[in-house]
Amino acid sequence: MSAAVTAAAISGLPFDKGRIYVDGAWVESTGDATSNVENPDTAEVIATVPECTAEDVDSAVRAAHAAFYDGPWANEFSGAQRRDALIALAATIEASRGQLEILESINTGKPIADVRAELDDAIDLFRHFAGFADKVEGRHIAPQANRSFEGYTVKVPVGVVGFINAFNYPLCLLAWKVAPALAAGCTVVFKPGPQTPLTTQYFAHLLDETGLFPPGVFNVVLGGVAVGQALVDHDLVDKIGFTGSVATGKHVIRSTASTRNVRSTSVELGGKSPGVVMPDADLDKTARLVISGCMANAGMNCNALTRLWVHRDVYDDFMARLKAAAEALTLGTPQLESTAMGPLIDRRQYERVLEYIRVGRDEDCAALLTGGEPALGRGYWIQPTVFRNVSPTARIATEEIFGPVLSVLEPFDSLDDVIAAERRSEYGLAASIFSRNHQAIAQFTRRLRCGTIWVNTHNPLFSYLPFGGFRNSGFGRELGYESFDGYLATKSIIDDITY
Ligand code: NAD
Repeated sequence: MSAAVTAAAISGLPFDKGRIYVDGAWVESTGDATSNVENPDTAEVIATVPECTAEDVDSAVRAAHAAFYDGPWANEFSGAQRRDALIALAATIEASRGQLEILESINTGKPIADVRAELDDAIDLFRHFAGFADKVEGRHIAPQANRSFEGYTVKVPVGVVGFINAFNYPLCLLAWKVAPALAAGCTVVFKPGPQTPLTTQYFAHLLDETGLFPPGVFNVVLGGVAVGQALVDHDLVDKIGFTGSVATGKHVIRSTASTRNVRSTSVELGGKSPGVVMPDADLDKTARLVISGCMANAGMNCNALTRLWVHRDVYDDFMARLKAAAEALTLGTPQLESTAMGPLIDRRQYERVLEYIRVGRDEDCAALLTGGEPALGRGYWIQPTVFRNVSPTARIATEEIFGPVLSVLEPFDSLDDVIAAERRSEYGLAASIFSRNHQAIAQFTRRLRCGTIWVNTHNPLFSYLPFGGFRNSGFGRELGYESFDGYLATKSIIDDITY
């Protein structure tokens, strides 16, 4: 897309890119600082947004606090009213999906077909979690012997939730977090990744348009480290929902323990997801699935398949197919239907990935099967890159690169050895196995300690199945009932009925 067309697409959008949405209104930041938003396809600046101050964060949290403790959303709205508001919001998003798609694709560099799938999921998520809003249930506990007490539990929303998001799936991750929190009756202060704030701004515009959410229920703050830190440190936040890197996640956990009240925290962090190709796998099909499992979103995917085990019996045959599948991916303007892989998000990530490719060649001494170079001569493009015969302990085999780089490990002979090696991984987010051997599949799915295990596929997520990690991949669960339950707290009521 040319610079002029991009600029027109952005400037024609009916939301305020220069202000933030707080307490049901678009307001100016109290500071002067701004940051540029880029189109990673071309590295051109496409918008300028405010970099919020600690004062802005304080206003947003206070608005969410007042809306929760004194406003109608958590105190007067029934579950059915919240359900209806979320269903109306889903319909509003759907009616504007053309604009959201173009905005998301330009801001992330993601192929338009992938953006459509992301938006389908986001819309479905609002409907899915709307369905829970009117089904908040407690338990009646039978009285103990010789006691005249009745006991029962009541589930209540946890309160003000501060959300801090990664840049990589702006719309989907927003829906993962905001839909269950609002369904539960919480109020929200939301900070998107600093690289990709535009669809969050547009979402705020749409939510505002429905008129169904009282002021202060959903608030946005924009910026980077300092803004995230101010949100984590704020004493009036009841829960932090964080998605990002392990290093930042650990810092967030430490910070949340230093506020006046300890608070519930969920952290969805990085991964280095293994895949296993068994000797009976359909090699052609599996090669395509492995490449899309790794290269989707240019590898900037927490559950990307980046560490591949291939059985010795099929190793060389499979390498040929893998190379062909990687080289068949079409790189090009993300808004074209033919594009299968986009660029990295920004210069920092682009340089980080090129550095890992250098490490793979020079330090890990791995053989390059394909790729390894910048692509298209513009923006932040890097070729789909595959290394083979990588040691399982090499840096490119163990560290999260967050780019289109696949490390195929040295051939394996026994699935037991694979499972033993994976138990030593610092991550436990996702994994996959390609086989029709049910014993091998059962052994893998039962013994591996990670949050999502795919069989004969890699990447598809359902809104209805929980998603999250073990070990350094984090704790807490997104999606499914488990996620909704994470925004509820339990009270126990004990009533002496003989009084
Ligand atoms: P990041 O850790 O650099 O930033 C994440 C967010 O934290 C950003 O909004 C950032 O502004 C904010 N932040 C930075 N410092 C902070 C601080 N001191 N206090 C509070 N907030 C702070 O991560 P990223 O580069 O945006 O995202 C990539 C990472 O996210 C990868 O590791 C990826 O695996 C992970 N991720 C995980 C999931 C999951 O569900 N497990 C999903 C998407 C991304």
